[in-house]
Amino acid sequence: DAGRLISPDKRGEDLDTSLRPQTLADFVGQAAARANLKVFIEAAKSRGEALDHVLFVGPPGLGKTTLAQIMAKELGVNFRSTSGPVIAKAGDLAALLTNLEENDVLFIDEIHRLNPAVEEILYPAMEDYQLDLIIGEGPAARSVKIDLAKFTLVAATTRLGLLTTPLRDRFGIPIRLNFYTVEELEHIVRRGARIMGIGMTDDGALEVARRARGTPRIAGRLLRRVRDFAIVDGKDRIDRETADSALLRLEVDSLGLDQLDRRYLSMIAHNFGGGPVGIETIAAGLSEPRDAIEDIIEPYLIQQGFIQRTPRGRVLTANAWKHLGLNAPAEVTQ
Ligand code: ADP
Repeated sequence: DAGRLISPDKRGEDLDTSLRPQTLADFVGQAAARANLKVFIEAAKSRGEALDHVLFVGPPGLGKTTLAQIMAKELGVNFRSTSGPVIAKAGDLAALLTNLEENDVLFIDEIHRLNPAVEEILYPAMEDYQLDLIIGEGPAARSVKIDLAKFTLVAATTRLGLLTTPLRDRFGIPIRLNFYTVEELEHIVRRGARIMGIGMTDDGALEVARRARGTPRIAGRLLRRVRDFAIVDGKDRIDRETADSALLRLEVDSLGLDQLDRRYLSMIAHNFGGGPVGIETIAAGLSEPRDAIEDIIEPYLIQQGFIQRTPRGRVLTANAWKHLGLNAPAEVTQ
């Protein structure tokens, strides 16, 4: 659902890159990932070699693209960016690869959506920096090998399980990104407010952070909307009350769940007695694609302890019943 306020999907406002951190030091959170990247970047720089290929795994909006850009900047190399579904033919990828300069970063978002024929081209490119192409057709077809500049592929995916094993195995540095803590998001919100030149109290920042679903992209989006409400209401700074009333008007609840999250939970409660219920049934019931449910809705609900994935399907926890304001059936304990 592209109209969803809380959706971490990319939208136009990401083109407004003013909130994007530019250096590793500026990047808040993901401490382990940052520390490791710092070491690998310094080592690659001191050897004067291309950094090993990096795979970022995690839900949308957590900073995979941002980190890829930062890496190129810190390495002092060019950043080229594309995405899996955009590369239609082997020739498209070949054109991208042959244009890279030594040690450049090539970023491929949604790498799990590469078409298999394109993926085949990527293997020798990643491993031996070589392109194996078939030129021509029929009896006149011949295979040519082209040497490529040594480059770093930085790829992003929402779930590791969506990648084929041969592709996954070719990344020397897999990095998982996790949801941000409220403290980290608070930091990000305050930084955003400063950059946007709006006043904000500490408890105002906390309120937005608490309701950002662990996701910086959503924090940025909520901040912009809250600012709009504050301006219209003639407030010169955002305090807890302003943030709270704006977010309520946007139907983002006290834990950051939006209408679709609540629809997901209440459908399982009302129609399936709390589960277990299979993902296909949920997708049909919500009229949302299964992928979107698994990539966007569920990770946060699982992390917050609202649902459990069991072999027989999704089950609501006691927490979820409580959040819905309903009495849990007797067998739901804890
Ligand atoms: P992804 O590629 O994982 O979907 P992005 O890198 O595009 O996510 O980040 C989404 C938005 O969130 C960007 O606008 C970026 O400015 C912001 N963002 C991401 N991570 C951070 C962070 N650690 N600190 C501040 N802003 C961040």
